[in-house]
Amino acid sequence: MRKLVSIQKVLDIKSIEGADAIEVAKVLGWSVVVKKNEFKVGDMVVYAEIDSVFPDKPEFEFLRPRKFRIKTMKLRGQVSQGICFPLDILPDGEYVEDQEVTDILEVVKFEPPIPKELQGLVKGTFPEFLVKTDETRVQVLQRQLTESKGDVYVVTEKLDGTSTTFYLHNDEFGVCSRNLDLLETEGNLYWKMARKYDIEEKLRKLGRNIALQGETIGEGIQSNKYKLQGHEFHVFNIFDIDKHGYVNPEEFNAIVKELGLNAVPVLDDVFIMHDKIDELVEYAKGFSVLNNKTKREGVVIKLRDHETGEGHSFKSINPEFLLKYGDD
Ligand code: AMP
Ligand code: MN
Repeated sequence: MRKLVSIQKVLDIKSIEGADAIEVAKVLGWSVVVKKNEFKVGDMVVYAEIDSVFPDKPEFEFLRPRKFRIKTMKLRGQVSQGICFPLDILPDGEYVEDQEVTDILEVVKFEPPIPKELQGLVKGTFPEFLVKTDETRVQVLQRQLTESKGDVYVVTEKLDGTSTTFYLHNDEFGVCSRNLDLLETEGNLYWKMARKYDIEEKLRKLGRNIALQGETIGEGIQSNKYKLQGHEFHVFNIFDIDKHGYVNPEEFNAIVKELGLNAVPVLDDVFIMHDKIDELVEYAKGFSVLNNKTKREGVVIKLRDHETGEGHSFKSINPEFLLKYGDD
């Protein structure tokens, strides 16, 4: 679903006031600063989204000072998100518009590090009966937005922490970080959250194959932007393992209430979709419900009525947050 690096068309090129050597290209819904005259409108390029981490190879040497990572930047007053390369950085072959080339270029997604002492030990890979949490960026969704115009969505605040999944599957209780199933150890942050909220006991009471997915925030995580003491877990998805799909908002609310947990803050319960990407980015601006002095990371916008959730939600990141804190 989410393509970090793909073949895209340059939709527009504009000059930047006061800049001779650079200009700004429009690719998908992104503005990307490029070298002047390197590309023209209609050219196919290799476009890499922010969060891309390039391999340590000679052709990407110029990215070394940035640890090979693509971040939001501001150049001559122009916000730039992502990077464009000519197609010839790819191995010879046939390429088509929108084709994903992340793996061909050995690019991986940046994952913000969690402090060692909170990490713990690995039990295994992420269970295949669950779905990893992820959100596509609104900037690449023009076509889908146009198709969804008028549909009802729910908007929640995107919290900047670490993805946490608790599951009960055929009587086995487990705890996962974004990519891994974790062993129970004393210091492990994710298991601490499970114990703090008595998740195992609560899921066993529900007595069904189910997973709670949410964000753990607080001390030591992503600079604790909300200035919390200790840690908090906020649910954003509930996954029905037997149906292999997310429960709908009514069931979500009922379960969260029954288990006495916190959900991520709801900003709008009835958001009528429109297809203006710029406005959806603007909409992401604002302050956190959890701390009104902290800029919010953004919003996650999710289709209200869906049976099997995947591909029905996306994120819009607050550009002011990206510039203030960087992309992590
Ligand atoms: P990113 O943090 O940029 O990788 O965006 C996707 C991640 O946002 C998901 O994997 C979740 O861990 C996290 N997230 C934080 N708040 C929410 C929310 N309200 N709804 C869904 N996902 C969220
Ligand atoms: Mn995140």
